[in-house]
Amino acid sequence: MVVDDVFKLFGRVDGEIILEYFFNLDKISIYLNRNRVLEQNEEKKILEIYEKYQDNYPLQYILGEWNFYGRNFYVEEGVLIPRFETEILVEKILKLNSNIKDILEIGVGTGIVSLTLALENINLNIVGVDISKKAIELANKNKKRYNIRNCSFVESDLYSNLDRELKYDLIVSNPPYIDNKDMKKLDRKLDYEPQNALYGGEDGLYFYKKIIEGSINFLKENSYIAFEIGYNQAEDISKELKKYKFTDIKIYKDYNNFDRCIIARR
Ligand code: GLN
Repeated sequence: MVVDDVFKLFGRVDGEIILEYFFNLDKISIYLNRNRVLEQNEEKKILEIYEKYQDNYPLQYILGEWNFYGRNFYVEEGVLIPRFETEILVEKILKLNSNIKDILEIGVGTGIVSLTLALENINLNIVGVDISKKAIELANKNKKRYNIRNCSFVESDLYSNLDRELKYDLIVSNPPYIDNKDMKKLDRKLDYEPQNALYGGEDGLYFYKKIIEGSINFLKENSYIAFEIGYNQAEDISKELKKYKFTDIKIYKDYNNFDRCIIARR
């Protein structure tokens, strides 16, 4: 097997990532050595990866890490894989006004949102919660990887374990938001991801409603709420936000022109 055969197995994009990651090759040397015959142990590794890959097992879990906002974070089975589109949510929050200091994230998963905010703005103070113990462990592992001090993680079902005395300038969440109908049509690749990080109840809105309702007790005056949302949810979530007196509701699209984020003030 030669280097070029790796592309035949995995396609160009994933092939490149695998070669870079496992064999520590940079892009230029990959393309300069397309006809190099792989060492026996290299070929063995490639075939091992291919066996899982063929079965739709996500490359992110095979690699054990994935890039988000320019940094690599650990990923493990049992916790949602970071999505490129979630960078939009982070980017929009970082552009909000500079009076924001205390942030609460609900549903941290790998921790990418909280940790990226903490790294990008050292003045922020972030608390992140997740119902999954596994997620909290992984988020802490990622926190350690980057030596982050302005962020802490707590195991909690939504607001249940939070100190009611503490209030925040912004609550952010990328909650599970896939509805019943879309759960049935999911790509097989998603079979390996935790269903409780994807499924948002019958109408996909369960967590938005819970988070908005509870936010009233945890937001300071003049604060924000920011969500990643599903492609067809902007209207319903706006309605819910208005019900709780949020204003200045802004919806942002992703690179495929689907609604992807919503941010509102209170
Ligand atoms: N906040 C994490 C992420 O955006 C986890 C989200 C989730 O598990 N639904 O990847």
